[in-house]
Amino acid sequence: MTFDEEWGFATRAVRAGQQRTNEGEHSEAIFPTSSYVFRSAAEAAARFGGTEPGNIYSRFTNPTVRTFEQRLAALEGGQACVATASGMAAILATCLGLLKAGDHIVSSRAIFGTTTVFFTNYMARFGVETTFVSLSDTAAWAAAVRPNTRLFFLETPSNPLGEIGDIAALAEIAHAHGALLAVDNVYATPVMQRPLELGADIVIHSATKYIDGQGRALGGAVIGDAEKVGKDVFGVVRTAGPSMSPFNAWIFLKGLETLKLRMRAHCESALAMARWLETQPGVARVYYPGLESHPQHELAKRQLSGGFGGVLAFEVEGGREAAWRVIDNTRMMSITANLGDAKTTITHPATTTHGRLTPEQKADAGIAEGLIRVSVGLEDVADLQADLSRGLGA
Ligand SMILES: *Cc1c(COP(=O)(O)O)cnc(C)c1O
Repeated sequence: MTFDEEWGFATRAVRAGQQRTNEGEHSEAIFPTSSYVFRSAAEAAARFGGTEPGNIYSRFTNPTVRTFEQRLAALEGGQACVATASGMAAILATCLGLLKAGDHIVSSRAIFGTTTVFFTNYMARFGVETTFVSLSDTAAWAAAVRPNTRLFFLETPSNPLGEIGDIAALAEIAHAHGALLAVDNVYATPVMQRPLELGADIVIHSATKYIDGQGRALGGAVIGDAEKVGKDVFGVVRTAGPSMSPFNAWIFLKGLETLKLRMRAHCESALAMARWLETQPGVARVYYPGLESHPQHELAKRQLSGGFGGVLAFEVEGGREAAWRVIDNTRMMSITANLGDAKTTITHPATTTHGRLTPEQKADAGIAEGLIRVSVGLEDVADLQADLSRGLGA
């Protein structure tokens, strides 16, 4: 038993998956080993032959990685979890495990930039085409379906504008056409949103973001049922090799222990910052699903519980020059494209994360030259406001 089904979320986050060794360690152990020793030739043969369970090699299984996988599966409500070397490796393993040449993906346009590049430049080379649609236009998803559509892919809330996709409605459309729904749950985390409970088939994480929460390590995970994830996705990871290191797994499983507390703090501060920004001179618009002014605030309230995430965006009057002035006048916030860190980060999407888009694509995606994204960390809100005020007033 890796956890008690009766346990609540916070208890699972602290205790699920731990298996103590006979040393009686309180905190989880790290197992930095590439292979495992067998008691006999017959045992080795049985393990390799699959007639006896047990560790063989850390590309396949590792006890520290397994603890992380079982803990995250318990939080997302999935039968199986496969940890990967990065969030992109989780997306790669999902596609290789569940798709084949000739299949078709319908994807939200508002996804992580590298995921767009992966679909259009790499999956396409192996015969898998992708159609991009608006996250919030549910009818567009249905219209984009082809007889060979096998996967719907989305992120909600989206980056950086906090657009919301209706997971339950899109799961219904996907399933009516024999396709699977994969949700990249990086922004909401299982603390606020559990896509499997809403009908999704696959949940994807970049553990690099909030699961670590302190910007130390790269990792990812895929969560779902025993067949699709436990067999098909796991098969890709153990064969192709984008496995998670046990050191990183240890960082992430300790991160899960404080995830709920941290997310609550990120959400509270982000909402306070969003409300404050709405009152600031020179700010044309604030994008945050927790604001009443957000066009999908009602759906966000229904789908997310306990908060609306730690990422917000706002548009300043005066275009790129004004946006860069705000960024360059900060003295504390980190000018970096990462997010989900205890340290607040500030980014100019039009010239960084979305810099590769054409002007038309930027306009389509709502990435204006005056747009600034802030991933609100765990510092005092008053200090964050003071840091932004300098550039806003300039
Ligand atoms: C960062 C990120 C990824 C990719 O994760 P890596 O760990 O950087 O490979 C995927 N999706 C979202 C939403 C992300 O923010």
